[in-house]
Amino acid sequence: WRAAAVPVRTVLLAAPRSFCAGVERAVEVVERALAQRGSPVYVRKQIVHNTHVVADLESRGAVFVEELDAVPEGATVVFSAHGVSPAVRSEAAARGLAVVDATCPLVTKVHTEARRYADRGDTVVLIGHAGHEEVEGTLGEAPERTVLVESAADVAALEVPDPERVSYLTQTTLAVDETAEVVDALRARFPALRGPASADICYATTNRQDALRSIAEDADLVLVVGSHNSSNSQRLVELARRGGTPAHLVDDTGDIRAAWLAGAATVGLTAGASAPPGLVEAVITALGGLGRVAVRERETTRETVRFTLPSAVRQP
Ligand code: SF4
Repeated sequence: WRAAAVPVRTVLLAAPRSFCAGVERAVEVVERALAQRGSPVYVRKQIVHNTHVVADLESRGAVFVEELDAVPEGATVVFSAHGVSPAVRSEAAARGLAVVDATCPLVTKVHTEARRYADRGDTVVLIGHAGHEEVEGTLGEAPERTVLVESAADVAALEVPDPERVSYLTQTTLAVDETAEVVDALRARFPALRGPASADICYATTNRQDALRSIAEDADLVLVVGSHNSSNSQRLVELARRGGTPAHLVDDTGDIRAAWLAGAATVGLTAGASAPPGLVEAVITALGGLGRVAVRERETTRETVRFTLPSAVRQP
């Protein structure tokens, strides 16, 4: 692709960006399972929502399936970073599958809260996107007590058995500002509303949104590296646009359109938590192919979070 030349284009790089601790762990779980057990290792759903990560693991012997009935009896199956419902765990046990669980510990935390709230008799309001795998898994913890809301408008239509006994949870990868509006709407309707001690929107999602906000205000265009089914990547695009900066989600350099770059002297660049760092480097290289670029990184916080591996794959 080609675009009108600008003297020196600034690439304003958001930090933190790209892989989070939960994604790094999930990818390593599959790599280790392959190294220990050999191919094929089955993975239920995409291990993380990124086409490049999935294709790379596929080329190394991982077999991605939609549901457990596609996994042969006794085989190894990895549960993805997004988590699974108890029904899926039961099915795996009934079929004698060797499970390696790559669910992000921060998703597991939400499942634990769902069970706790349901056990004390609350209606659990889960704020999230219908159909997302993480939401499917969390809903499955207490399906008869949990209701899903996607927006403040949904809150108005909620009917619960006891307005004094309502708790809320959220998907981990939502927009922080939009979610706060939904929680405010819930609290207005149910003043006794209870929620998690610390936010369910995870540190990585929050940090990437803060970093994006910082670069977007100084950019003519924002590029977010990530796949279309990546919730946290989509939220970054929306956040830039809400702030008035044109923004696009790109899986890789092949998705970048010349027209977007015309007159864009400063390009803000970031990546969702499931997008590999190398794809960001490739975008910088591609922009450099159009003329001189000056790369400036703006770091809003430094991440030090690491998660231990599941015991099933801890030994190298
Ligand atoms: Fe875990 Fe957050 Fe990363 Fe999802 S985005 S894998 S919840 S750290």
